[in-house]
Amino acid sequence: MSARLIIVGPPGAGKGTQAGRIAEAVGVPAISTGDIFRKNVAEGTPLGVQAKAIMDAGEYVPDELTNELVKSRLAEADAEQGFLLDGYPRTVGQVAYLDALLAEQGTAVDAVVQLVADQDALVARLLKRAEEQGRTDDNEETIRRRQEVYTEQTAPIVAAYAERGLVLDIDGLGGIDEVGDRIQAALAARGITAGV
Ligand code: AMP
Repeated sequence: MSARLIIVGPPGAGKGTQAGRIAEAVGVPAISTGDIFRKNVAEGTPLGVQAKAIMDAGEYVPDELTNELVKSRLAEADAEQGFLLDGYPRTVGQVAYLDALLAEQGTAVDAVVQLVADQDALVARLLKRAEEQGRTDDNEETIRRRQEVYTEQTAPIVAAYAERGLVLDIDGLGGIDEVGDRIQAALAARGITAGV
């Protein structure tokens, strides 16, 4: 058995934390394209040099570069039996690319974990965190704007997978363990369990 998973969730919903937990529980690597880009930037690789200015401007790295990066990462031995992608796919072109890449291997995405959270509760949580950390640039307006951008950008991606019945909506509000348990239960209902 294997598990090819994607996680999506709004800023502040604890997506990175849950990604690590799911990956460990299911026994697949958590692959974050953002982390890979940041590592390349830090190491000054040719990819990092190309990506840096784009990332600094808050824009998306072009699909050609991002898709190649994902292709080579998924070709590594640890991803043979599956993976959990975090931060990819982020454009409809990337969805199509991933479909084609997996189809070549006779596989496909098994499930998309979508963390959902009440906007106002999320904003309140992020405002509290910003206050605690003294991040005065994070005011209610910028936080709400980031949530809007997330929703606008993610909606078409989630819609593509929802058409295939692959999206698992998980209530993202609650403690780390509580949310983690909800995710595991939803995955288990799809036959995706530990050590696959
Ligand atoms: P993240 O940590 O996922 O927010 O990613 C940080 C930055 O890396 C983004 O703002 C983009 O510039 C770049 N990036 C990460 N994943 C992708 C992707 N799937 N497509 C394009 N750019 C990406």
